[in-house]
Amino acid sequence: MSIAITTKKRSRYQGFNHIDRIIGDLNITEEERREISIVSKVLPFKVNNYVINELIRWDNYHNDPIFNLIFPQRDMLPPELFDKLSNLVDQEAPAASIDRMVAHIRSQLNPHPAGQMTDNKPVLHGQSLEGLQHKYPQTLLFFPTHGQTCHAYCTYCFRWPQFTGQQEWKIAGSGIDTVIEYIRHHPEITDILFTGGDPMVMHLKRLQAYIEPLIAADGPALRTIRIGTKALSFWPYRFLTDPDAAGVLDLFKRIKQSGKKLAIMAHFSHPAELKTRAVKRAIERLLSVGAVIYTQSPIIRHINDRSETWSDMWQKQTALDCIPYYMFLPRDTGAQTYFAVTLERASRIYRDAWRSMSGLSRTVKGPSMSAGPGKVSIMGVQTINGEKVFVLQFLQARNPDWVGIPFFAAYNPKAIWLDDLKPAFGEARFFFES
Ligand SMILES: *Cc1c(COP(=O)(O)O)cnc(C)c1O
Ligand code: SF4
Repeated sequence: MSIAITTKKRSRYQGFNHIDRIIGDLNITEEERREISIVSKVLPFKVNNYVINELIRWDNYHNDPIFNLIFPQRDMLPPELFDKLSNLVDQEAPAASIDRMVAHIRSQLNPHPAGQMTDNKPVLHGQSLEGLQHKYPQTLLFFPTHGQTCHAYCTYCFRWPQFTGQQEWKIAGSGIDTVIEYIRHHPEITDILFTGGDPMVMHLKRLQAYIEPLIAADGPALRTIRIGTKALSFWPYRFLTDPDAAGVLDLFKRIKQSGKKLAIMAHFSHPAELKTRAVKRAIERLLSVGAVIYTQSPIIRHINDRSETWSDMWQKQTALDCIPYYMFLPRDTGAQTYFAVTLERASRIYRDAWRSMSGLSRTVKGPSMSAGPGKVSIMGVQTINGEKVFVLQFLQARNPDWVGIPFFAAYNPKAIWLDDLKPAFGEARFFFES
């Protein structure tokens, strides 16, 4: 198909937020155009020319994983809510009533799963700190204010409320001085993880303002700066030809030279994101300044719910000197019913992919759920004394004593999240529930 998007590949401003302009140019059906436009009133939508021209295969876009990753679709909303919104749009209802319906639909999509907004907020000198989460001892999550958008948006994103402009849903906040003081009070913290959104949407000046004080702060405990990003998938030029790309790489080099480790936590949803020349060169550049690249993704129906997809992705990553790290189950938010894979299927896909590869690629700890009590990984399905069970363990837990202890849940082929599981063997509760 031909796509009349002419923005130059290397231009600095590459985000397209104006849905009607983008989809007007695509060779998709009128009905799809309408559906995308309606669903994107509720779920955030953003794409750029790299994704459109180099990642999506338009000759078969209905089944294209990257098309499904980026483009909102009708089935991502509950049918009756889609119809209500669609009717309002057809009747050319006043903007205020459309806005009310949009707000109502969003509120039905569980915008804040697992107590994200209220739990794990650190406190310093009696004051609760915005934009930080400290759930597990070693790792502090930091949401820098200016890193709370992305180069493009994933339809399955659990942080979608952040991108819909609703102030009270944002979790960005504290400045770096506060962060450093907090780290000084918590010598158990070895890792700080910049997350978002995507911190790599920030310009060099902002990155420097955050990272240079961390390098200088030189507490003995802080060893690793992690940056969670999907820029390698959505905009590899961030590390190649953006005007400040060389400066970013130099900043990264200085992290390494200071004796700390730089870990890029790269989000790759599908092997298609690893095949362009640009992404390969961007990975090489990051490695050349001493970064280590770990990879992670949720497992998502319509996008990557086949074992061959994962083994292909993990093998390609290993070949590019990246380390496969996490396979997540999608959280119970947004269009989860559209995307969810049962725990049973996820476990099978993981195992089949995992055991088909060389040991060097068997580095993933998954599939795992980031739930209230902790990060729970599914070790597998087993039959014990005639009872079929899920074998689970915490990779991280609210109480560190729980980590690494296998526990058992009654087999439930429909379960898609920890909440759907009951303890096995007739126990009243799981060992971590008091
Ligand atoms: C996964 C996660 C981390 C990091 O855990 P590691 O096992 O060190 O990768 C930190 N904080 C939260 C809230 C997490 O979900
Ligand atoms: S890159 Fe990450 S934060 Fe951004 S939309 Fe995708 S999943 Fe969400």
